Amino acid sequence: MSGTTGPRVLLRRLREAMAEKSESQARLDEVVHLIAQNMVAEVCSIYLMQPSDELELYATEGLKPSAVHKTRLKVGTGLVGDIAAHARPLNLSDAQAHPNFAFRPETGEEIYKSLMGVPILRSGRVAGVLVVQNRTMRHYSEEEVEALETIAMVLAELAAASDLISSDDETADAAAQQPLYLEGTSLSGGIALGHVVLHEPRVHVTRLIAEDEAIESERLEKAVYELRSSIDKMLTTSDLSHAGEHREVLQATRMFANDRGWLKRMLEAVKTGLTAEAAVERVQNDTRARMMRQTDPYLRDRLHDLDDLANRLLRHLTGVALSSASGALPEDAIIVARNMGPAELLDYDKDRLRGLVLEEGSANAHVAIVARALGIAAIGRANDIPERVEDGDAIIVDGDTGELYVRPSQDIVEAYSEKARFRARRQAQYKAIRHEPSVTLDGAKVELNVNAGLMVDLPHLEESGADGIGLFRTELQFMIASKLPSQREQVELYGDVMKSAGDRPVVFRTLDIGGDKMLPYMQKAEEENPALGWRAIRIALDRPALLRHQVRALLTAAVGRDLHLMFPMVAEVSEYERARALVDKELARLDQHGRDKPRSVAVGTMLEVPALFWQMDALLPKVDFISIGSNDLIQFLFASDRGNPRVAHRYDLLSPGALNFLRQVVLVCARHKVPLSLCGEMAGSPLEAMALLGLGLRKISMSPAAIGPVKMMVRSLNVSELEAFMEDLYTRPDASVREALQGYADAQGVAI
Ligand code: PEP
Ligand code: MG
Repeated sequence: MSGTTGPRVLLRRLREAMAEKSESQARLDEVVHLIAQNMVAEVCSIYLMQPSDELELYATEGLKPSAVHKTRLKVGTGLVGDIAAHARPLNLSDAQAHPNFAFRPETGEEIYKSLMGVPILRSGRVAGVLVVQNRTMRHYSEEEVEALETIAMVLAELAAASDLISSDDETADAAAQQPLYLEGTSLSGGIALGHVVLHEPRVHVTRLIAEDEAIESERLEKAVYELRSSIDKMLTTSDLSHAGEHREVLQATRMFANDRGWLKRMLEAVKTGLTAEAAVERVQNDTRARMMRQTDPYLRDRLHDLDDLANRLLRHLTGVALSSASGALPEDAIIVARNMGPAELLDYDKDRLRGLVLEEGSANAHVAIVARALGIAAIGRANDIPERVEDGDAIIVDGDTGELYVRPSQDIVEAYSEKARFRARRQAQYKAIRHEPSVTLDGAKVELNVNAGLMVDLPHLEESGADGIGLFRTELQFMIASKLPSQREQVELYGDVMKSAGDRPVVFRTLDIGGDKMLPYMQKAEEENPALGWRAIRIALDRPALLRHQVRALLTAAVGRDLHLMFPMVAEVSEYERARALVDKELARLDQHGRDKPRSVAVGTMLEVPALFWQMDALLPKVDFISIGSNDLIQFLFASDRGNPRVAHRYDLLSPGALNFLRQVVLVCARHKVPLSLCGEMAGSPLEAMALLGLGLRKISMSPAAIGPVKMMVRSLNVSELEAFMEDLYTRPDASVREALQGYADAQGVAI
């Protein structure tokens, strides 16, 4: 930078000038005078953005004073408009030769040849343009452009702080008070009314101008070092919080954090007189402005990663906590985040947690699994949500529909409060029958079990009054871990599960990984059709050590108890036989070593692959029980991907085809006297559950929240009458018999 006074001195003098008590125009006049003098420029002008999207000349040194508040340029017109439109500097030794040069006679600028202008950015948005001009064809150096950019940033902050311009914050504040309605996708059902807690608290930089450059450089380098090590640590330690897709984000973050150019640009910004925090913001402002111009959605998405990284660095610099989990939470906290790992959600105080809103996230994401296990409403794919809310904003999450209301109006609050009260009344009714038997009007006992997979699921067993755990998905614990759980860890987990279940039976399913259930620490196999690919029992038989460790852990944990275990995705008898042989071998090993064993071991298989049904006569004599996995079974029956919203609901579960198939399974199991249950989502919906009872099932397993509604249905049903009614349905040509079943329920007063 030219001139006798360095940029730091100028920044300090600017701060003093802006702090003066004089009238705002006089302060701006002083500012342009100081900048012109410091940059050895004949002209210095400030243009500020107007609500009309025009740039108005607010102050000038060198141009005609009469043009102030008269000259206005549309964004995109003239060089000033060009700088604003592209949010990037222009450095021209011959400005008039530029195709966008637009001559404004009232300014008298025709005598100035060179021009250097930079956008005045706040939060990545253009708030104005700062320009210097010289009579000669001067070539401004890169350092001078940098210096002017720094000045523009400080100017933006000072001007906003002293209310000289309507700040972006004010515009944002105005927007922030507006109600906001968003539609995302449902990750976990339920309704929650509460207040926003930003998972990653925002840092507001207030100290911009450095006292000592050396100290600031040192602070910056130290913080970057800490940042890099913390990311490395998250990726390498056994910290459970960063599994799954979150890991990929972290890997990208690490790559950006290690980019030398990034640190270099920030150190250069410090050299111009900024504090370390302001330097981070300054560089991020530039990056944001550059990325906003990108039309490539992939690159624009990366902006989030870079914003996150800058925020993390700011938190290292300012000591603001990395997550809000450790801070004080409101009683009705609704966590808002771009994304998070499952254990990060578990870090929050469960008693205060009401809901979760993510900008990313899909129903299969592990954090969604945990949200469902915690029983909190959750929504994913809520566009730009972290930027659109403030801590403490009122918010309503409708996890059933995927709708979100931020700062809702009074009538929306009332409507949802009523909904929530209605639900609470229903919950109270379910609670009241928690210990009542699950028996139909005509005396048939129906066993109702819950599906579980995480420790947080376990209290639901008691709360729901279920008979036991019909499906314990062991892979969930593996999915939220960042490394393969050791055999000892597995023994502990399975032991805890059985202990908390007490006398109630637990059916453990061996690892069902692959397909949509990937382990973060396992190499992802690229497969064209993962649902039909290398998954579940197929992996277990190809990698028997994994299954062996798990079986050993289960046998050890179940010492003195009854162990029920089953295998997922078995497609033929020989697969079951091989898996069972492995269990028998482990049991024999315990005998050999004289070790304690479970009181009993029942081994069964899931029926999820239609081909297995055609081998029932060969299979059933060899198994202790069968459990129908209707989620997979039905998707394979109809060749209709359960995870693809376009086709997932194309075929009705209550179609004669599906019901007929299930009926045949019931009949063949009855013939062989093999216990049968069903543990897919189908069992959790009262109408579907009613149909399952009507076709002969007496044991079903579902999500804990479904136990109450399904028990209500059971206790209001005469099942032998329904069985007779359904006889006619199996042969109907219709795509669905849903209406007929609903009509029956309505007519008979079955609580659906
Ligand atoms: C099923 O397929 O129905 C089942 C219970 O298994 P999962 O949903 O875990 O695949
Ligand atoms: Mg399945």
